[in-house]
Amino acid sequence: MPEYVFPPPPQPFLPIRGSSAVFPIRRIFCVGRNYAEHAIEMGSDPTREPPFYFTKPADAVVIGGADTPYPTRTRDLHHEMELVVAIGRGGSHIPVGEALSHVFGYCAGLDLTRRDLQNEAKKTGRPWDMGKAFDHSAPMGDLVPAAGIDCSRGRIELRVNGELRQASDLSKLIWSVPEVIANLSELVALAPGDLIMTGTPEGVAAVVRGDLLEGFIEGVGEVRTRIV
Ligand code: MN
Repeated sequence: MPEYVFPPPPQPFLPIRGSSAVFPIRRIFCVGRNYAEHAIEMGSDPTREPPFYFTKPADAVVIGGADTPYPTRTRDLHHEMELVVAIGRGGSHIPVGEALSHVFGYCAGLDLTRRDLQNEAKKTGRPWDMGKAFDHSAPMGDLVPAAGIDCSRGRIELRVNGELRQASDLSKLIWSVPEVIANLSELVALAPGDLIMTGTPEGVAAVVRGDLLEGFIEGVGEVRTRIV
């Protein structure tokens, strides 16, 4: 072990339902436009695009139902409710048929987005990072071990202050969980601790301070945070 000039940062983690052990987070990959109706609402053609990715830092997660501070430099903070896949076994060039054997578990997550900064970045051809990868941009619920979970179907929904904002089904993912894992593993070597946010269905919209966000994925669980 080297001698560090200051203490190394704490290891970000996700709690695991029914376990006192936790899941150490390595990286967070996010799939863009993975539900047809959301691609259409964002002005894209859902039929022709291969999957594409952006990332968030591991320490962007907000866990345990903690509050999420409204970020600086935006007037248009959007919710994106998503299924999160947690990789337990790494690999490159993972075949679609073997992809699910690399999954440790799943959780419900929010890809919070400074939509105004993301739109500006799209217009100017600049990176999305400051629209997507800011502090506290990834509230997540407890991880649920994969055994017995069928990630190919199940309701996914988000309520804001009790009102239904997003409602869809995992069966509507353009690129399925195994296809995303296989495709992403062609671009990077996946490693234990990696999280993949699989994209949001339609209904994204702005939230303001005081809003309570409650997401639910059938068979997986919940994510909950208040914007403060
Ligand atoms: Mn997203």
